[in-house]
Amino acid sequence: MKSLIERLYKKQTLSSEELHVLLENCDDYHLNLINKLAQTVAQTHFGKKIFVRGLIEIGNCCHNNCYYCGIRSGNKTLERYRLSEEDILDCCYNGYQSGFRTFVLQSGEDPFMTDEKITAIVSAIRRNFPDVAITLSLGEKEAGSYKKFYEAGATRYLLRHETYNQAHYNMLHPCSMSLKKRLECLYELKEIGYQTGTGIMVGSPFQTITHLVEDILFIKEFCPEMIGIGPFLPHHQTPFADKPSGTLKQTLLLLSVFRLMHPYALIPATTALATLAADGRKKGILAGANVVMPNLSPPVQRKKYELYDHKACTGAEAAEGLSLLEKELQQIGYTISKDRGDYNDLTRKQKNVS
Ligand code: SAM
Repeated sequence: MKSLIERLYKKQTLSSEELHVLLENCDDYHLNLINKLAQTVAQTHFGKKIFVRGLIEIGNCCHNNCYYCGIRSGNKTLERYRLSEEDILDCCYNGYQSGFRTFVLQSGEDPFMTDEKITAIVSAIRRNFPDVAITLSLGEKEAGSYKKFYEAGATRYLLRHETYNQAHYNMLHPCSMSLKKRLECLYELKEIGYQTGTGIMVGSPFQTITHLVEDILFIKEFCPEMIGIGPFLPHHQTPFADKPSGTLKQTLLLLSVFRLMHPYALIPATTALATLAADGRKKGILAGANVVMPNLSPPVQRKKYELYDHKACTGAEAAEGLSLLEKELQQIGYTISKDRGDYNDLTRKQKNVS
């Protein structure tokens, strides 16, 4: 085990069989070892700085019915909302005042939000806050739509593939959704020029070690700029209400595997991880994460964007709690970086290319 971890650290890769052994047999001692090495790699490239991104959940209306997700169309008990362009700009204004220089606009897949409406919102943010990075996470769209948003000023897009295994994908989604389409979207985003993020839920129902190895190898090949991984957490109004959460240990292990394989990637310590464990965010950072995404949405709407039960959205998880987050990070010797933290700038600086 130790030699596998050291090789992953030195060579940034392992065979599929070796990854399988690592994921299957990693005990607490080796988890601690891989977390420490991942921490070293993150510190080598980013210092003890954590990038903050202001998350604006622009609406919870969704035409999809993913079996794991609390905002699925089949959840008839959820009060739905959409933020207006004005609301979104207010969130950006508040965030900008607090020092945020990246806004992440996330929502369900909402046909009401046409390309024209999204383009208008992106353009307005770009006009009002010329120096910020705009990240979108609005789900699957046509390549032409992604292109319009890019031309309007969005430069990053988050779209987790959720699982690379076809059979597993079909266990998590209704047949109206397809893995093929999801992957096509990812390649289109990259082709357009977005800094692209993908990822998975750790411990999603029916997930096996073999699936995880397939995910790791896909992510290696796709080489995203951002990798979003957090534990699966059940939501009471979904078919997976009784399924167990992903575990802290497996999430920390995967965070470290991704950090070792993708030294420069932007990897968040997710809200789901902070929801799973009170010290989840700190542990995620100490396992190699280098981003946190405090919630900038209007406080009255936050609970309605409930992907899973008991979602953390106050305290250090809230944008207005930035000083709490700062204190939390200080406890482990880290500070907040308010830089935009663009992947290309980071890698260029590191590689000393002008
Ligand atoms: N609609 C967009 C999309 O499909 O990418 C963005 C919103 S979607 C709700 C964002 C992410 O939330 C998903 O990619 C999924 O991994 C995560 N998510 C949904 N339900 C979850 C759950 N029960 N536990 C943990 N993460 C969940």
